Amino acid sequence: MNTFKKDSQNEPKPKAHNSVLRLVSIYAALSVIWILLSDKVVESLFADQATAIAASTLKGWGFVAATSLLLYILMRRLTNQILTFAQREQEILRTSKERFRNLFEKNTSVMLLVDPITGEIVDVNASATAYHGYSKAQLTGMRINDLNTLPQEQIAAQMQRASNGESNLFIFTHRLASGEVRDVEVHTSPIEWEGRSLLLGSVHDITERKQAEEKINQLAFYDQLTGLLNRTLLQDRLRQAMAASARSGFQSALLLIDLDNFKTLNDTHGHDMGDILLQRVAQRLTECVRESDTVARLGGDEFVVMLVDLSKDQSEAAVQAELVGRKILATISQNYQLREITYRITPSIGACLFCGHNIDPDMLLKQSDLAMYKAKDAGRNNLCFFEPDMELVVLNLAKLEGELREAIEKGQFLIHYQPQVVENKTLGAEALVRWLHPERGIVSPAEFIPLAEETGLILPVGQWVLKTACTQLALWANRPEMAHLTIAINVSARQFRQEDFVEQVLSALKKTGANPAQLKLELTESLLVSHVDDLIEKMFALKAEGVGFSLDDFGTGYSSLSYLKRMPLDQLKIDQSFVRDVLSDPNDASIAKTIIALAENLGLSVIAEGVETALQRDFLASAGCHAYQGYFFSRPLPIEAFEAFVLQK
Ligand code: C2E
Ligand code: CA
Ligand code: CA
Repeated sequence: MNTFKKDSQNEPKPKAHNSVLRLVSIYAALSVIWILLSDKVVESLFADQATAIAASTLKGWGFVAATSLLLYILMRRLTNQILTFAQREQEILRTSKERFRNLFEKNTSVMLLVDPITGEIVDVNASATAYHGYSKAQLTGMRINDLNTLPQEQIAAQMQRASNGESNLFIFTHRLASGEVRDVEVHTSPIEWEGRSLLLGSVHDITERKQAEEKINQLAFYDQLTGLLNRTLLQDRLRQAMAASARSGFQSALLLIDLDNFKTLNDTHGHDMGDILLQRVAQRLTECVRESDTVARLGGDEFVVMLVDLSKDQSEAAVQAELVGRKILATISQNYQLREITYRITPSIGACLFCGHNIDPDMLLKQSDLAMYKAKDAGRNNLCFFEPDMELVVLNLAKLEGELREAIEKGQFLIHYQPQVVENKTLGAEALVRWLHPERGIVSPAEFIPLAEETGLILPVGQWVLKTACTQLALWANRPEMAHLTIAINVSARQFRQEDFVEQVLSALKKTGANPAQLKLELTESLLVSHVDDLIEKMFALKAEGVGFSLDDFGTGYSSLSYLKRMPLDQLKIDQSFVRDVLSDPNDASIAKTIIALAENLGLSVIAEGVETALQRDFLASAGCHAYQGYFFSRPLPIEAFEAFVLQK
């Protein structure tokens, strides 16, 4: 409560009752002595009857006089005590008030005295006038709602709470004389002042602190590019949604949205353009959902939409989620005007439903991810729901990864060599890795290479292939019938991007003594997606030592003529998908022909892979391609079989 009242309570009280007690005790003692002087004693002292009576009367009067005297002294003492007590109270009150005034006036904090009922500003200190930019007279002529930007009823309600002592800390915004609006924290205390019940408010500016907090929040919980929620905040919202659906029973859905071939835009038109597109996609996504739903960006071109309060019935909820998903597909895939270019992009969406805490947020995201990949597999621009058997795939992948690590430690790999034939003569081989699994036998690279690439295990595997191929070249160099053979090895993008890739290759060549000119590296077009300058630099460094390059799976990926011209390539390899249908699909036939013409134009050799029939070979030969690889000539073979194949030709 108020300051001066508190002070007076703390002053030592005059100890009036102590002196009264002392007086009463003295009086009691005297009375006892007086009574002891009984009439008998008086009579024995005074033989004369008349004198005895007089003495007795005297004793009576003496008693009355003593009692009166005592009462008189007692009354005086008490009156004095009461008077000094009141004076001292007055004195304390006065000094307390002065002390308070001093404290109020000189306080460096902004202080306001406000009437909680009328809102009238009763008094302010110098800091308050300096802070608000009004004079004392102006401020004391205002009501608190002239400063506080809250609606009047809310201010009244808050002041009521402050007066009741329900709360003594409030966050408000004050409008200053300059018109600037600042965030303030107000500590209040109810106070009795000159007979009025007022509120004393001490105001602290927290604008900067609040801005810093907001900035930190913004950085911690929102995606800086799109302003959408980030992964952290999404996970929090997911938990909230789970708790809410556990209570209500309404289903929720999580939609993971990934843009198809987003990289192409970045690579062809630059990251700025990519950023603009992501912002537009974010905007369109937000427009597709209700306010109660959540839109987040996980990073890159991955977005998440969380739909809440769907039907309690699972299949009905799935239909609702699918409707929103279809709307997103249609909206996102409409044309975008990005500065001067018109661009179109499609999304792939993976969806799953959830209700209550039957799954944790990370798992939910993983499930949507699996469904999204299924949508991509189904040809992109598609929506797929998660199905439990997808999880089996994940579990199997985890098992495979463990086994793959073990395989590297135990050296369970071998190479099969597939002949590369020119005019019926084997000029070399492509080295294709195989995994000799202890239980499953030979495992195809198609099964483990993608996983090895994802986990980085491709690096040790690739190193091993490189060394083995170089060793093989060195061995053949000593055998005249084999000495002409080249070996092509597949190099994944991840492998090539290692800083010391050039050194790795050169050191393998040097250690084994293999001829660099007989080693060919097969690169895929996925390498051309980024860091092209670095790629070209490495290629030139290897080329300078004699190493050759072939561009694998040509025609399936992203290739740009300008890059092709800059790279020191030796060969284009027509992808087997075109070769397969070269006789039945005129489109594939013309692609194959174009690649052959392009190679010629660029001064490169060309080889067709996946040649399975004589007719395919003949078609390719007529188009000008004379180097082949495929089952028509031979499957990939273990080393002994391959050598026998070479010898028999
Ligand atoms: P790729 O580089 O396109 O290899 C050609 C694939 O086509 C090989 O499959 C080969 O066996 C198969 N093939 C060859 N001729 C024919 C044919 O006439 N018809 C059909 N249908 N297929 C044919 P494989 O051995 O299963 O290898 C699959 C992929 O694994 C390779 O595709 C390559 O990308 C990757 N790979 C293999 N070995 C390595 C390696 O050492 N390192 C890396 N990074 N990748 C490798
Ligand atoms: Ca290859
Ligand atoms: Ca290939």
